[in-house]
Amino acid sequence: MRYSAFSIFRNGLSGQKNWQRAWRAAEPKPTYDVIIVGGGGHGLSTAFYLAENHGIRNVAVLEKGYIGGGNVGRNTTVIRSNYLLDGNTQFYEFSVKLWEGLSQALNFNVMFSQRGQIVTAHSADQLDAFSHRANIMRLNGIDADILDRDEVRRLVPYLDFSDTARFPIHGAILQGRAGTARHDAVAWGYARAADGHGVDIIQNCEVTGFVRDGDRIVGVETSKGRIGAGKVGLAVAGHTSVLGRKAGLELPIESHVLQAFVTEPLKPLVDHVVAYGADHFYVSQSDKGGLVFGGNLDGYNSYAQRGNLGVVREVSEAAIALMPCISRVRLLRHWGGVMDMTPDASPIICPTPIDGLYLNGGWCYGGFKATPASGWCFAHTLATGTPHPLIAAYRLDRFRTGRTLDEAGVGPSAWLQ
Ligand SMILES: Cc1cc2nc3c(=O)[nH]c(=O)nc-3n(C[C@H](O)[C@H](O)[C@H](O)COP(=O)(O)OP(=O)(O)OC[C@H]3O[C@@H](n4cnc5c(N)ncnc54)[C@H](O)[C@@H]3O)c2cc1C
Repeated sequence: MRYSAFSIFRNGLSGQKNWQRAWRAAEPKPTYDVIIVGGGGHGLSTAFYLAENHGIRNVAVLEKGYIGGGNVGRNTTVIRSNYLLDGNTQFYEFSVKLWEGLSQALNFNVMFSQRGQIVTAHSADQLDAFSHRANIMRLNGIDADILDRDEVRRLVPYLDFSDTARFPIHGAILQGRAGTARHDAVAWGYARAADGHGVDIIQNCEVTGFVRDGDRIVGVETSKGRIGAGKVGLAVAGHTSVLGRKAGLELPIESHVLQAFVTEPLKPLVDHVVAYGADHFYVSQSDKGGLVFGGNLDGYNSYAQRGNLGVVREVSEAAIALMPCISRVRLLRHWGGVMDMTPDASPIICPTPIDGLYLNGGWCYGGFKATPASGWCFAHTLATGTPHPLIAAYRLDRFRTGRTLDEAGVGPSAWLQ
């Protein structure tokens, strides 16, 4: 059923009783052309683009829990393409362009809101570095503006512009096309659209091992039995190294918890995404009114979807230093997600050395914004057997050859231990 004003009207007349399920409750078939392990944003978007762009519809997405239960439903939804390095810039800008048409492409409102992202600068040198970044973004056709202190004050007057500010604001970099989206709508929208193309979305189906024929992977062992596959794609985010090891791949990935926070609802206050250039804190306001914010990783390896109170304190301190009025607001909830951190903070999307096995992981804490481009490029890689040109830099062997893609600063921090 296509969602439209007419379908809302017609279902209104029949007491809202005739809506179809957004996707079928599929049970596994004996074999598929492609199996995607992981029903997060990346797995679902890959399945959708396999069908939509390449006509490959005999596809299953196997999810050990429920759709939207992983990081795709736990993140703070910041979408941006303010990258500096070749390899990152083109990929993330392509992703923002896909976001701009995503609700129409999926026939599902993902509530993409291009409210702009402001990153504050707290010294003349930092502002200079931001100018360098903005110039490179513009040379790559990506929108960027440098704001002086007065312009920042006009846009975000609730930040600390007093003489006693812990780190005085010198200016900021603004990407006007950056923004946020509704995270679970993204999962549901891709799931529904993939299902509409015949993809089987199988929940409560944990992949526990791999089936081999000689050196080739030809299927997976699951909690619902053995399922054959022409190709297997891993898109399991924080569990990438766990599944990789089961397949015989030792990956340069560590799993860490990242927390997010939401306050009680307020009247409209924060119109942009605002990130603190002097410490780990960023904030936006949800449509329900809560201030959604986050900071740095909990600094230990974990697979728990919750964090510790020390980070709550650190993030709150940074929040109050930038935005003193937030000290009056009550914290409503906080939660955690498991991050797959690579040594250079860039992802890995490529065929693996194991025949039949393809990898999409290492998204660190920046993978939500990549969801459309990641699925698009991973689907291309699975369909053709060769990496899409936009992900050429995200090869696994870069850690052996030394061609790493370190992008700290406005991008996620590298996480070398
Ligand atoms: C608190 C927080 C804030 C964040 N903020 C941002 C942000 O503002 N912007 C941004 O771009 N990114 C952000 N991220 C990162 C982003 O959420 C992730 O990089 C991205 O969602 C990961 O891809 P995914 O959606 O496919 O992951 P997930 O949704 O985690 O999907 C992976 C799925 O694999 C499943 N799985 C695991 N093992 C198995 C198995 N053995 N068998 C079957 N299924 C399995 C899991 O259950 C899970 O559903 C944030 C993350 C967190 C936790």
